[in-house]
Amino acid sequence: MRSTTAPATITPPAAEASAPAISLRGVAKHFGETVAVRNLDLDIARGELFSMLGPSGSGKTTVLRMIAGFEQPTAGRILLDGAEVTRKAPFDREVNTVFQDYALFPHMSVADNVGYGLAVRKVARDELRRQVTEALARVHLDHLADRLPSQLSGGQRQRVALARALVLRPRVLLLDEPLGALDRKLREQMQIELKAIQREVGITFVLVTHDQDEALTLSDRVAVFHEGGIEQVGTPTEVYERPATTFVAGFLGAANIIEPELADELFGRRELLSIRPERLRLSAAAPTDSAPTVTGVVTEVVYSGPATTYVVELRGGTTVMATRPAGDDSASHRRGDAVHLTWSPSDLYAIPGSPTRTT
Ligand code: ADP
Ligand code: MG
Repeated sequence: MRSTTAPATITPPAAEASAPAISLRGVAKHFGETVAVRNLDLDIARGELFSMLGPSGSGKTTVLRMIAGFEQPTAGRILLDGAEVTRKAPFDREVNTVFQDYALFPHMSVADNVGYGLAVRKVARDELRRQVTEALARVHLDHLADRLPSQLSGGQRQRVALARALVLRPRVLLLDEPLGALDRKLREQMQIELKAIQREVGITFVLVTHDQDEALTLSDRVAVFHEGGIEQVGTPTEVYERPATTFVAGFLGAANIIEPELADELFGRRELLSIRPERLRLSAAAPTDSAPTVTGVVTEVVYSGPATTYVVELRGGTTVMATRPAGDDSASHRRGDAVHLTWSPSDLYAIPGSPTRTT
């Protein structure tokens, strides 16, 4: 087969084409005595759905506000598509923000709320109407275009806010706890929709959340914040299965953390070890193969529908949790039962660095 000629697409200059959508270089923010953000370096790729996850007060919103330009860093540089914007005003940056309190105009219809930014930009009427219709269809609200915000549910209002931001086609969309005000079922639905919309429009999304399930469900990558710094950046699988610190292990769901002393005694490894509860299996009888095992006594059984968690006290008084899915017949133990715990060696994970604790 004959080789084809060069593709017809025009590629931007190499430097810009390869630049991340967002780069932070040595970014810090102090509010008087408070160090809200300490010396961050971070790259977020184009088209990425990136989450900043961490407890309240860990600096997530401050980072988002600095990217948007609402806050000036005390030190460091911020680049968008490789160009420095550190001192630029918010309206000179191609980013758009969706806040937790959607702040819709109460006296304007859904369509007018979504079209507002376009009207400010003096987009012609027919074109404006076309783009609003398209944006509303994307968030499944085309049938509610004439309603007022007060006539919508929380989830619908959230989608109006999203449509209002998307219609302006920013290069980057910043979302600060956008689903925080929704009840759980709606929040889970919106997580799936948000991810689908992001994939469809291909815009870089940066999402702030304190909800680990939300971050794991939605993200291409997650940064785990702690006290103004980032403890780890990785894919959901990496941060969950291979936490870099005890803080990350503990923040992303339940983790059994085994101190080096005990790890040495139980497993012959003098390291800080962690294993997820769902990776521990229980049995009444000792395993017949050569699988590693420790014995213990069930002290608590916690039923939660899809799974049951057993609290097991080991020799020496340390307790671990083992979570078994419903339908796992080998796991019907009661308080006071002696059990053998087994696991795959690869599930017992040595936590590499631990700035939050001295061992
Ligand atoms: P998060 O979004 O992770 O909950 P924030 O970025 O809002 O955290 O806050 C990080 C820290 O900075 C907190 O200790 C907070 O009290 C402080 N902080 C945030 N904004 C201000 C401000 N405008 N003035 C003083 N302190 C602030
Ligand atoms: Mg916040």
